[in-house]
Amino acid sequence: MVSDDFFGSALKQLEQALEHASISLEAKKILMQPKAVLEVKIPVGMDDGRVKIFTGFRVRYNDALGPAKGGIRYHPLVSLNEVTALAFLMTLKCAAVGIPFGGAKGGVAVDPKNLSQRELESLSRGYVRAVYDFIGPDSDIPAPDVYTNETIMGWMSDEYNRISRKLVPAAFTGKPVSIGGSLGRNTATAMGAYFVLKELIRQLKLNGKELTVAVQGFGNAGYNIAKLLHNDGLKIVAVSDSKGGVYAQGGLHPDSVMKVKESKGMIDGVYCRGSVCDDIEHAHITNEQLLEVDADILIPAAIEGQITEKNAGKVKAKIVCEVANGPTTAGADKVLHERGVAVVPDILANAGGVMVSYFEWVQNRAGLYWSSDEIRGRLESGMLKAFRDIYEMAQQLKTSMRMAAYVHAAKKVVEAMAHRS
Ligand code: NAD
Repeated sequence: MVSDDFFGSALKQLEQALEHASISLEAKKILMQPKAVLEVKIPVGMDDGRVKIFTGFRVRYNDALGPAKGGIRYHPLVSLNEVTALAFLMTLKCAAVGIPFGGAKGGVAVDPKNLSQRELESLSRGYVRAVYDFIGPDSDIPAPDVYTNETIMGWMSDEYNRISRKLVPAAFTGKPVSIGGSLGRNTATAMGAYFVLKELIRQLKLNGKELTVAVQGFGNAGYNIAKLLHNDGLKIVAVSDSKGGVYAQGGLHPDSVMKVKESKGMIDGVYCRGSVCDDIEHAHITNEQLLEVDADILIPAAIEGQITEKNAGKVKAKIVCEVANGPTTAGADKVLHERGVAVVPDILANAGGVMVSYFEWVQNRAGLYWSSDEIRGRLESGMLKAFRDIYEMAQQLKTSMRMAAYVHAAKKVVEAMAHRS
């Protein structure tokens, strides 16, 4: 985690948004804190014979709209503050895009790259044993997040089934398709952001084919959105990962960058040494420089706290599409809005992931599975409806899309809270 008080920063943005909404002080009090918090210690027998204790969290922030939903993150800097902030954002995200779920999040403070496959499986199963009573298909449904993936969800789902002594596929989403995962889940976050971004480009009357794009974070979400936009004719001029990035005015091919990343383990320093792009002029850049490159669209798709008050004034993009959760601090958000940068907020831009997770949960419960086309169609109409509602509200309130999304979401949560004791 980069920002020291990610949750505080997120709450600041909620407070600013609620100035535009008539919400009672009592409802605000409930919205400003999590409903339930669990901290667990997970002992794992390591390959060298020692036992190592890992700390994990699960936060259920609000479940007025339905069972709480949120991923599990593996990262050395996972903290209760971060997990709470992410659970808060999940609450608003599900409400903002009309999914009947509340918000939750989980995490383990661990560097998964330092674990063997066996240790990783043991930690993942241990996490489920530790939080078993706190989660479930009708109360709190985990999914993948940073450095967790469908293999890990498969282990977790299996451990949950073992403890339950029955198959409960709807207890986890983001599972492998062979054990009840949904088609389209892997690319859902990028696809949802792509639908929203295309609609924004249309609303702003820009010519998509002339636009350039910089993507920070070249993992699942960053790579897939770069690919979708590249296929549509937009020029990807810069990409980066945790080790650094590259800038090429002539454009980069996402698949070529991925090939090098997979073979060499990094983008920076190796990209143009091989044969994939000998003819492309490129420069090596740092992650900080990527945020300030000359590109029309900036897509932060890595981690939180990247655009701050220090660098917001130097962002050259006209559009920032927040595929990562919380990449812009509250102070930076104000600067970008004042400078006329259109920011598609995280709770809208990256909601495609949780939308298809919701589809997975519905399919698991119905025992009826949909085709890729059906998933894509439902995702597109769900994302476009949410975008138009929020965009219209931003115009009406004369505010940023983030403020509008927060107001739109908070009103829905508060309305549901009014029907519960
Ligand atoms: P991932 O683990 O697949 O990829 C993360 C990428 O970010 C990696 O390429 C990593 O090298 C890079 N990275 C890490 N630290 C960085 C830094 N300081 N600067 C630049 N790059 C850095 O994760 P993902 O699933 O693609 O998630 C990325 C972001 O999108 C996260 O904020 C996550 O919460 C958010 N998100 C993901 C999903 C999803 O379904 N995958 C859904 C909603 C939100």
